[in-house]
Amino acid sequence: MNKKPIFRLFVLTGLLLSCSAFWGCKEKSDEKKQTEEKVVSRLIVEFDEERAFREVEDLIEFSPRDAGTRGANLAANHILSRLTEFGIQAEMDTFEDNTPHGVKTFHNVVGKIPGTDGHWIILGSHFDTMSGIDNFQGANDSGSSTGILLEMARILKNTQPRTGIIFAFFDGEEAVAGYVQGDGLHGSRHMAQQLRNSGERQFIKAMILMDMVGDRDLNITVPQNGTAELKKVLLHSANTVGLRDYVALMTTDITDDHKPFLEVGIPAIDLIDFRFGSAPGLNDYWHTENDRMEHISAESLKITATIVLEMVRNLAFETDR
Ligand SMILES: [Zn+2]
Repeated sequence: MNKKPIFRLFVLTGLLLSCSAFWGCKEKSDEKKQTEEKVVSRLIVEFDEERAFREVEDLIEFSPRDAGTRGANLAANHILSRLTEFGIQAEMDTFEDNTPHGVKTFHNVVGKIPGTDGHWIILGSHFDTMSGIDNFQGANDSGSSTGILLEMARILKNTQPRTGIIFAFFDGEEAVAGYVQGDGLHGSRHMAQQLRNSGERQFIKAMILMDMVGDRDLNITVPQNGTAELKKVLLHSANTVGLRDYVALMTTDITDDHKPFLEVGIPAIDLIDFRFGSAPGLNDYWHTENDRMEHISAESLKITATIVLEMVRNLAFETDR
């Protein structure tokens, strides 16, 4: 399908105003309504896709960055530095885990913007790359979602959300032996277990994962294994910002970093374009040296970010949800 993202984004501002006005029709005061309109239009306008693209370019300088390597360590430190530069409260969580190739060291990077209601949403992306691929950049998998998340952190820092926002950058998503038990999803499993063990999971309203969301020919799909309520929020949000055509629900499951969160009872959803290839419908760039910068686009980063930012507005800023 041939889509015209520039045109769509051009008409977006007009749509936002009318849709936000419609949403505000319920029992909200004009003041509240205006505040929400300001937040949504400002966030989406402020998200700079060129900056996000440059974040991806900077990250792939550390490739290959598969878990346990020097590249992964440098990438994690780079992400931590970026969050700190944005003024986000951030830390590196270094831990060991068993893999089919022995014990490895992993580094999750976690940033937080506190809210006021004691609850949190998690925005997630992995940053490691698949091992064993020559000349691998991992621009789409996992650069695209990491770049988006960093740019989101930069713009959300200037807001005061009602519900706190956690930016989770996971290490060790990629499996080395085909996602057998205990292989891959190391960072996300570690974080989900921490939230379960500490009892904090009850305060997590949603976990939104992005993965492979920079394809020039963007088709965001949502695996069946995801929380129904969040799928509703996603479709509603995509519709509101005029980007509904980019999103489709799948009837199959995908093993990705949202899964460990679902398994501990945290509502979670995965936005993934698992057709990253040389022609529509193909996924032949995935896990090959063709996963390069020239096959992703700033426009696609903006489309994904626009939809997710509208979800964030619903979940963390909307006053009556
Ligand atoms: Zn991958």
